[in-house]
Amino acid sequence: MRIFVYPGSFDPVTNGHIDIIKRAAAICDKLIVAVLVNHSKKSLFSLDERVSMLEKSLSCCENVAIAHFSGLLVDFARSNGAKVIVKGLRAVSDYEYELQMAHLNKKMDENIETLFMMANPNYSYLSSSIVKELVLLGGEIDGLVPNEIKSVIIEKIKNERE
Ligand code: ADP
Repeated sequence: MRIFVYPGSFDPVTNGHIDIIKRAAAICDKLIVAVLVNHSKKSLFSLDERVSMLEKSLSCCENVAIAHFSGLLVDFARSNGAKVIVKGLRAVSDYEYELQMAHLNKKMDENIETLFMMANPNYSYLSSSIVKELVLLGGEIDGLVPNEIKSVIIEKIKNERE
């Protein structure tokens, strides 16, 4: 069974992530979306909220599982039988960091490959931070995040601001 893992903070999940998830799920038997627990950047949404938003957005995708991890990604991948780490590349700016991570992960476990997928041009400008910024400034996020979680995101940011 070909198992891929797609790691990220998903704070919150955007349609850019969903696009990568669907494309990756189409070329493997099982895709594990792995939510980072102890990330260096502080997240707005709690782990439970980030996982729950992914679950709401991905109920249609049968071979997609949602999990969380802390510690080394290669350890998580190995213990889940995943031989491939999927990453989305939006722009050259993503490339440098991702190249470093891919080499580092390869050094730690040579049996695990990193697979890069180019972002859908419709979403190549999109990031979780942009979504949060937009909501904070009163902008529209229709089409940028899954419809199922739009109100959850808006509510959370409204409450944080109060
Ligand atoms: P962000 O960079 O938005 O904070 P994450 O840390 O959750 O997102 O990123 C998880 C993965 O998703 C990374 O491989 C990242 O490059 C990729 N990704 C993020 N946004 C997009 C997008 N709009 N299109 C394609 N891939 C993306």
